[in-house]
This record gives sequence, C-alpha cells and structure tokens, in this order.
Amino acid sequence: MTSTERSIAAAEEHSAHNYHPLPVVVATAQGAWMTDVEGRRYLDMLAGYSALNFGHGNRRLIDAAKAQLDRVTLTSRAFHHDRFADFCAQLAALCGMEMVLPMNTGAEAVETAVKTARKWGYRVKGVPDGRAKIVVADNNFHGRTTTIVSFSTDPEARADFGPYTPGFEIVPYGDLAALEAAVDEHTVAVLLEPVQGEAGVLVPPPGYLAGVRRLTAERNVLFIADEIQSGLGRTGKTFACEHEGVVPDVYVLGKALGGGVVPVSAVVSSKDVLGVYRPGEHGSTFGGNPLACAVALEVIAILRSGEYQDRATELGDHLHRELNRLTASGSVTAVRGRGLWAGVDIAPSHGTGREVSERLMERRVLVKDTHGSTIRIAPPLVISKEDLDWGLEQLRAVLGS
Ligand code: PLP
Repeated sequence: MTSTERSIAAAEEHSAHNYHPLPVVVATAQGAWMTDVEGRRYLDMLAGYSALNFGHGNRRLIDAAKAQLDRVTLTSRAFHHDRFADFCAQLAALCGMEMVLPMNTGAEAVETAVKTARKWGYRVKGVPDGRAKIVVADNNFHGRTTTIVSFSTDPEARADFGPYTPGFEIVPYGDLAALEAAVDEHTVAVLLEPVQGEAGVLVPPPGYLAGVRRLTAERNVLFIADEIQSGLGRTGKTFACEHEGVVPDVYVLGKALGGGVVPVSAVVSSKDVLGVYRPGEHGSTFGGNPLACAVALEVIAILRSGEYQDRATELGDHLHRELNRLTASGSVTAVRGRGLWAGVDIAPSHGTGREVSERLMERRVLVKDTHGSTIRIAPPLVISKEDLDWGLEQLRAVLGS
C-alpha cells in the first residue's frame, strides 16, 4: 500500500463520508502549488473554494499569524483584546460600512445575517412578531446549518434534515420581477450571492444586482450580499457587487478573510442594522479572536493595495478568452464567470465533471466538479500566467481539444 492509499483508507474508515475528495493526499503547499505525500506536485486551481485567494503559505499572512501566536490567541469576547478594534474599524472601512460582527465560518456569518435581519425587522422596520420573511434565490448556497439548508433548493443538501426553519421565500435567481412579487410588508431582507459559486459560477443578468438594490431601498428591505465566495478579490473587485456599482446594506464575508490560515467570517453593515444587538443576544467563543484578527488585518491590508484585484482582472480576462476557445471546439458547452473564476460545463461526450477532474489530477492539476457536468476553476490569485497557461494546456489535453 502506498502512503496515499493508507491515508485514504484510514480516512474512509474513521471520518464521516460527507465529502467525496479526489484521491490525492496533500502534505505541503506554496503559492499556487501543492505537494502530496508521494512528493508529486499539483497546480491548485480551486484555492480552497476561494479561501486561498492570496496563495498557500503567503509570507505576510504566515508572519502575521506567527507573530500573533507568540502574543495571545484567544481571550473570548468576555474581555477586549488589542487587535479587535483595529480589525473591526479596518474591515468596516474596506466595506464602506460602519460596524462589524465577527464569526468564524461562512455558515455562521449567514446565520448571523439572518438573525440580524429578523431583529432589524422587528425592532426598526416594525414587522409584527414572528412574521419576518427573507427572500432568497433558487440554486443558492449559503452553508450547511439546519436553517440555511431549509431554504436550499438542492435535494442533496436538504433531504432528511427537516423539520425546516420557516420564514423564507425562494424565487428564481436573476428574475427581478419574481423578486419584486415576493417582497411584501413583512419582508425584512433579500439574501443573495452576487455570483452563485456552488451553483456553477452563475453570473446574474446585467442590471439584476442594481435592480435588487433599487427595489430593496424602495421597500425598506435589507439587501444582504453573501460575498463569502465572490468577495475579497476573486472577481477582480473587492466585492462582486461593485461590478454593478452596487453597495448592499449588509456584506457577509468569510473564506479569504482568514487568508486560508484561520477561519474568519463577519457580517458588516451600518450602525442602524448591527446596532440592534444588545449584550447576550448573539456571540461565538472564537469569533473575533486575536489570531483571527491579526491574520484578517493583514488580509485587509493586502486588499487595500488593489494588487490582487488587478491580477484577478488581468488573469481572468486571459482565462475566459482561453476557455471560450474550448467552447468553440465543442468539448465544453458553456463557460461562465467573472475575474479569475469560471464554471465550465463539460460536453457529455467528454465525460462528467468528476471524470474530467480525475483526469486533470493525473496531469497534476486540481479542480473540483459541481452538479455533475461542471468544473470550477478558481486558482489562487498569486498564480503566474505561465502556470495558468500550463493548467489550461492540461485541460485542453484532457478534453482532447
Ligand atoms: N456562502 C457562500 C456563498 C459559500 O460559497 C459558502 C461556502 O462555500 C458558504 C456561504 C458557507 O461557508 P462555510 O463553508 O465556511 O460555512
């Protein structure tokens, strides 16, 4: 048995089978490259579902984490600590907002946004108790908690996890008229991904996000943008909403906020909205911990320079040009995306998304399939153009194009 086989067999035996990973066991990583336990190198074209926007082992982030490890790692929110205020102030400033509520994972931040919207609805908007409604889109992915899967339209994500949390209405993504019809006097929020990542990198029709902004402002409804996957550089802007000049009422952030080093998530909004909380009404032992704040402060500093957003734009233009050539060749039926982020639908004659991912793995490129026929391409934004071209060459070879 090889080290890889031993490792996978033990994982199969002792871990719940809630994922279906590719059969590679990573030991180390640097930049856009990962090395497995057998010493084979792979180009990472997934970047931890965009948590690793700034690359594996990013020097600035690792140094920030190491320095903080020697100072203090956790106080809980029972006490203040000396990185907290800076983190909240600087993240709020990056978002053009006023207040931050830190959490750890994406799902927790979405839950926090749901709770915040409901509380705002009752306390500020004046919705009758227990009647708050949140409008969401079909094919959404906002996380895995019982409340969040309650408004998923993916049977795999939902089945056997009921009873479901009420208070959500689902409308087709990208359909402004349907959204308008769903918003009523009890609606407290519209919760959307500005680009639907897990659904296959679906970009809404032009004007949709701006329309959502107009509608929610007119009806006194919060526009909550889940930028957990789309935000923090991936699409070529700090926030995907910026592509339509839109500023939502609430940003939900995660993944890259922790630089792929520690889990850091946050809800970011105005004082009107986040000001609804009083002590004891919400919290998390690790939310806003010193280590998380130290790493996230460095992430924010990196984003302020705009360097990675520019890379995502330039490399993304190149990526989409190359992928569109594959569409012309017939091996790919559709390519979607924005910035250095693409959903590629594989023609059935060329295999499933999983099969293409496995063949790419044999050629030392790591991507992940979604929804049967789609592969997602989202390399770390530090990837060089040469490496990106090499990865695309492997994709062309696998597709016989
Ligand atoms: N929201 C979006 C848009 C996501 O893409 C994800 C994860 O893929 C989540 C929420 C959930 O984040 P986490 O897995 O950290 O709970």
